[in-house]
Amino acid sequence: MGATLADLPPLRDVIRRHELRAKRSLGQNFLLDLNLTGRIARAAGPLNGVTVIEIGPGPGGLTRALLNEGAAHVVAIERDERAIAALTEIAERADGRLTVIAGDALEYDAKPQLGSGPTRIVANLPYNVATALLVSWLTIEPWPPWYDRLVLMFQREVADRIVAQPGGKDYGRLSVLAQWRTKPRRLFDIKPSAFVPPPNVTSTLVELVPRQTPLACDRAALERVTGAAFGQRRKMLRQSLKTLGLDPLPLLAVAGLEPTARAEAIPVEGFVALAREFEAARMR
Ligand code: SAM
Repeated sequence: MGATLADLPPLRDVIRRHELRAKRSLGQNFLLDLNLTGRIARAAGPLNGVTVIEIGPGPGGLTRALLNEGAAHVVAIERDERAIAALTEIAERADGRLTVIAGDALEYDAKPQLGSGPTRIVANLPYNVATALLVSWLTIEPWPPWYDRLVLMFQREVADRIVAQPGGKDYGRLSVLAQWRTKPRRLFDIKPSAFVPPPNVTSTLVELVPRQTPLACDRAALERVTGAAFGQRRKMLRQSLKTLGLDPLPLLAVAGLEPTARAEAIPVEGFVALAREFEAARMR
């Protein structure tokens, strides 16, 4: 019988052998506790029949867990050349279920890799590009997207902004964009000491499930209105929205929003209505 996933050595040995000393420039904080990576993979499951796109597998702790939890196929995109040999050792034991891609996830289009079943993006993200990657997945057209769920690890502060409800300081442009397209939910926190090396902050695993029926509005218009409103978040909308270059009062009236309200009080649906009116007014 050939080698199996169970024959793989501990991750610390893999790191030593492949000289995978963590680089800050690549946002590398590795999870070496296979119980923890198993917990993350289970939170992303059930995975039977699912193709998983994993960003930044590094030495492969989460990759192993995703395979052990029964993912039909894992496509792992890693930018660090040093990790590719370590990942190839996993692929050799994975019965064709692991494809390793050496490259930059910011430039990678996963679509050609997709099989016929559901596809999910699961990752312990490099924090320096986490928000950029999330925004790229939230702005896919057409909507609903090709993935059925995102299960992603962020710095807790970023997770707080993604799930924030109106009325608090965390509620802002990222909350509106995320909740415009998905229903996000915090799953659990992971303390810094679980990572090698430990980051300065607590991490949070977040699930984002795409809304199947889009809240219809133009994305550029939504970004313009949230940019104006949160750009001067202490000001009332009748003042902050002046930077749009149109009289805000008729827009606010048609969108059903109080001119004296501030950005942080407006629910996502309010911004969507405002974006629609802004777009319509610009066309007139
Ligand atoms: N998944 C591993 C784990 O949980 O231990 C590593 C997570 S570490 C926080 C982030 C990983 O993303 C690193 O392996 C890093 O090399 C990789 N990475 C950083 N920037 C990347 C990019 N633009 N595209 C693909 N991978 C990237």
